[in-house]
Amino acid sequence: MIDTGGEGHTDGEAGADTGVHANAASSLLEVAVALPVPGTFTYRDPRPGSVIVAGTQVVVPFGGRTVTGFVLGPGRPMGGTVKPRDIESVVAGGPAFDEPILELCRWAADYYQAPLGEILRAGLPQGERANAVRLVRLTPAGQRAARGESPASQITLGGIDAGGGDINPILRMLLDAGGEMQSRAIARQAGPQAARVAGQIAKLEAAGLVEVGDEVRDRRSPPSVQIVLAAAMNKSLETKALPARAQVRRLVLEKIRAVTDGIVLSALSQPERAHVRALASAGLVHVQRRPVSPAGEQARPRVAGPPPTPTSAQANAIAALSAALGAGYACFLLQGVTGSGKTEVYLRVIAEARAAGRGALVLVPEIALTPQLAGRFRARFGDDVAVLHSALPPRERLAAWRRLRAGEVGIALGARSAVFAPVRDLGVVVVDEEHDSSFKQEEGVRYHGRDLAVVRAQRAGAIAILGSATPSLESKRNVHLGRFRQLLLPERATPRPLPPVEIVDLRRHPPGPGGLLSIPLAEAVAGNLAAGQQTILFLNRRGFSTVVLCRACGHVVRCAHCAVSMTYHRGRDRLICHYCGTQESVPAVCPACRVPKLERLGMGTERVEALVKEQFPGARVARLDRDTAGSGTGRADGAGRLEEVLRAMNAGEIDILVGTQMVTKGHDFGGVTLVGVLQPDQAMHLPDFRAAERVFQLLEQVAGRAGRGDRPGRVIVQTYNPEHAAVVCVRNHDYEGFVRGEMAARAETGYPPFTRMVVLRLDGPDERRVRADARAVADAAQAAGGERVHLRGPAEAPIPRVRGRSRFQVWLAATERAPLSAAARAGAAVKLGPDVRLVLDVDPQSTL
Ligand code: ADP
Ligand code: ZN
Repeated sequence: MIDTGGEGHTDGEAGADTGVHANAASSLLEVAVALPVPGTFTYRDPRPGSVIVAGTQVVVPFGGRTVTGFVLGPGRPMGGTVKPRDIESVVAGGPAFDEPILELCRWAADYYQAPLGEILRAGLPQGERANAVRLVRLTPAGQRAARGESPASQITLGGIDAGGGDINPILRMLLDAGGEMQSRAIARQAGPQAARVAGQIAKLEAAGLVEVGDEVRDRRSPPSVQIVLAAAMNKSLETKALPARAQVRRLVLEKIRAVTDGIVLSALSQPERAHVRALASAGLVHVQRRPVSPAGEQARPRVAGPPPTPTSAQANAIAALSAALGAGYACFLLQGVTGSGKTEVYLRVIAEARAAGRGALVLVPEIALTPQLAGRFRARFGDDVAVLHSALPPRERLAAWRRLRAGEVGIALGARSAVFAPVRDLGVVVVDEEHDSSFKQEEGVRYHGRDLAVVRAQRAGAIAILGSATPSLESKRNVHLGRFRQLLLPERATPRPLPPVEIVDLRRHPPGPGGLLSIPLAEAVAGNLAAGQQTILFLNRRGFSTVVLCRACGHVVRCAHCAVSMTYHRGRDRLICHYCGTQESVPAVCPACRVPKLERLGMGTERVEALVKEQFPGARVARLDRDTAGSGTGRADGAGRLEEVLRAMNAGEIDILVGTQMVTKGHDFGGVTLVGVLQPDQAMHLPDFRAAERVFQLLEQVAGRAGRGDRPGRVIVQTYNPEHAAVVCVRNHDYEGFVRGEMAARAETGYPPFTRMVVLRLDGPDERRVRADARAVADAAQAAGGERVHLRGPAEAPIPRVRGRSRFQVWLAATERAPLSAAARAGAAVKLGPDVRLVLDVDPQSTL
């Protein structure tokens, strides 16, 4: 496992006594290393008289290795004879984090009970860590798996083929290399599969088979470009260097002189560059290296129309927000129905903040999925916006970060990790679609982007605006408790009202051909097609079928490593596990009874697409889900295909768009007049106390896609549960009614927002071992938390096995934070079996 380097002390004490030892220990530094190890460490700065600013990235020895770390402040002298080790070097370019962000990270480390170094690492864009190399190392469990001694070795993870039968090829490579490799070397060895290595390493890390850490091996200079600038005019030099016959060279010089900011060298042609060299040696031009600037490299600015005149509801909201701007922290819940013009409110308030010289931070659920929103910000603010797109190449991301820090750009727009963006003099923080669960990071440090954003605003004395058509119950409760102020936009900004919602009871109108569309919905789609209007069909599941079932014996094909059934994907003609990614071909006969009667049941978007094409032969049908749009969280080609679908939708080249949640995310398609929701039933019955809330939010979101243009829209929801509260309320767009009922249920059962929760998740290959450890964890937590902490579990997780590891959960609930934290800390401190892992999740969003 990871060895310790310097002398550790715990997070809780970190930096508590800044300044006390300032003179005696002026060369001691408190450092957080970028590794998943608890605590911070004391190092010595050997350079006489040097002062290292907090937030600076340093290179330090740690155990037998060299790793990156972050200076937090002055270090404390260590007791006894222990001598702190010297830092090796200081990473150039100034501090990676400024004081406010460092403070935010400290707060997050404490609140989420996570190592500070890991949070700092999560908060840096890739490029800022480019001076360190990523090392992948086998854990003891990984060693065993690589030797084929445990079932986890058989994870194929989408299969990089390096030969060697069933053992995961990356594990094998690592074993062959002595247990440790640079991730780049793994990618190189994977050859044509290299693009998938990073994702697979993440999965192996999640499975506890490898550890990943940044170590310093070589240093690269920051990204830069060569710029050619004209020198000051000098007639005599010029006559000497440019004889009359050197016409072309003279033209090149004129071209350079015409651009005051200089020309990028690589933008010139090969012969032109030769002339530049000659001109440079004659002293007529200079060639300079300049850090890469994101101008022109980010999304093209869109043409800006004049901003609309605010509606009276918008004007009220803008007035309240403007009045609060500059008067310290305040948090607002902007509750506005879909299409009510929340974005226009953000834009106006941000413009005011900018006019006052203050910066803005805007968080959205998935920036890669909402290019339209980024376009609207660009159209209004041009180059003053840094779009922190996850598909952005690391260099550009880094350049955007630097410009924010330098104050050259005042607005940062991005997904949850943008909460750490170094916006200067923060005046306003916006969280759009604040109810969206993607703000919660579900791996590594499990922070909630929305909650951190509010904390950041509070510390910066900025205003926070949380916007949603269907605010989370947590935020509604905060309004009730007087912590947030509510602003309402009750109607759409355009003359179109919210679309009427019709409910089709599938028990009375059974689905027709292929089990897809009920007659009322099929007729509506046909009518819409005939009228030349666009339709969205929404289904919450991707793939073709959800189960492959044997009609002879009833056997369902399940993933060998997870307690879930395999999903058939027709495009790839494979069975895929949606939890661990394992793929296999479809067996010809039932694996249980050997009878060739396997049937593909259940419905995924891929099947909907096929059935719709069959049922409406003339229609132009497209599909949008994670399979068609890439991962949706990064790959540039995926984002490109998404943009293509969005473009085709807006251009009216698609009649019927079939999709998952991806079609609900804030898109503004003017031509859609019908939205059909297929079977939301499964989502209603998930073992999750937020299941009803999520279904309501989803239905309202998807319904909001209809009738945004010139023509009115309608929504049809076909369901077996028409009496479910989410369905009943969405029918009248009755958010408040839904919240009333749901709040009462939560209060009664003791769930958030009436309690705070922490879940301790345990997993390991041996079920009995995990069960026993979960019991011990629960007992320790209960003992430490006392009566004020309510314990649920230990219990098997709803998905009891993933990637060959059994999973148990211990849920803790309390109305106060102190006893809850104490209980969680005690539970997490329990010594576990060698292969058992524990993850602590504060304010969990997922119950699976
Ligand atoms: P929301 O974010 O609340 O869903 P949007 O900000 O996307 O709503 O606005 C929905 C549509 O209404 C957009 O096309 C937007 O340009 C338009 N819009 C917003 N405010 C106004 C206004 N005051 N007058 C006319 N159109 C508006
Ligand atoms: Zn699986």
